[in-house]
Amino acid sequence: MIELRHIEKRFGDAVILKDINLTIPEGSVTALIGPSGGGKSTLLRCINLLEIPSAGTIRIGSEETVFAKGKKPGWNDIQKIRQQTGMVFQNFQLFPHRTAIENVMESLTTVLKWPAEKARTRAMELLTKVGMAEKASAWPATLSGGQQQRVAIARALAPSPRVLLCDEPTSALDPELAAEVVDVLGTLAREGTTMVMATHDLRLASKLADQVIFLQAGDIVEAGPARTVFDTPQHQRTRQFVSSIS
Ligand code: ATP
Ligand code: MG
Repeated sequence: MIELRHIEKRFGDAVILKDINLTIPEGSVTALIGPSGGGKSTLLRCINLLEIPSAGTIRIGSEETVFAKGKKPGWNDIQKIRQQTGMVFQNFQLFPHRTAIENVMESLTTVLKWPAEKARTRAMELLTKVGMAEKASAWPATLSGGQQQRVAIARALAPSPRVLLCDEPTSALDPELAAEVVDVLGTLAREGTTMVMATHDLRLASKLADQVIFLQAGDIVEAGPARTVFDTPQHQRTRQFVSSIS
């Protein structure tokens, strides 16, 4: 389980996330939805400490980290949290000078110090899972966007993180290529991968998410089971947002 308690993020004087409280049960999919600039990406980046929260507590499994003004976590604490999270970005961000399989092996050999052969075996299993085994030796630039994103998902899963964080995983892709990525995410969800996903694609959110969080101006306006938030939103702002997009 992942718990965020009273998470706040400021950039200078601007308060970007306000007192965010969120529980992400093991094996569930949480979708972060809401208008542009609402704080979805910042919240994801706070979970894996690409951004350091200004205040609050994050608990991932048994690791709890408390944030406060003037109290930056040490590098070891940051690494402990990072190792429990895998991140997938909108624009894939594969290492361009590594082949697909080398991208997946990278964290295993460099951070976890696995021997190359063990890392290669694990990477091949993951590439098979995302339907990319045949492209193991390909360079990222020779792959389609959907293929690159599937390699990026395999890379994020390599160290067996507790949670897969996805920031707009399909929004740089044509519908057909997005569908390949949605299929992979759907399989992972059915297998019980814990995921938190920021998305503008409400169909993707309604298809995969157990829990939907509507974020606006750094506030959780509404949170609940996907069916409830989409079919019977409680708040006017959620109703407007859901009806304007769908
Ligand atoms: P989108 O749907 O467009 O991806 P989002 O919900 O992901 O939007 P964020 O990218 O989290 O929104 O941005 C939330 C707010 O934080 C925005 O007002 C943005 O300008 C601000 N912000 C994000 N990163 C920084 C930064 N490094 N410095 C200052 N402000 C930032
Ligand atoms: Mg964003």
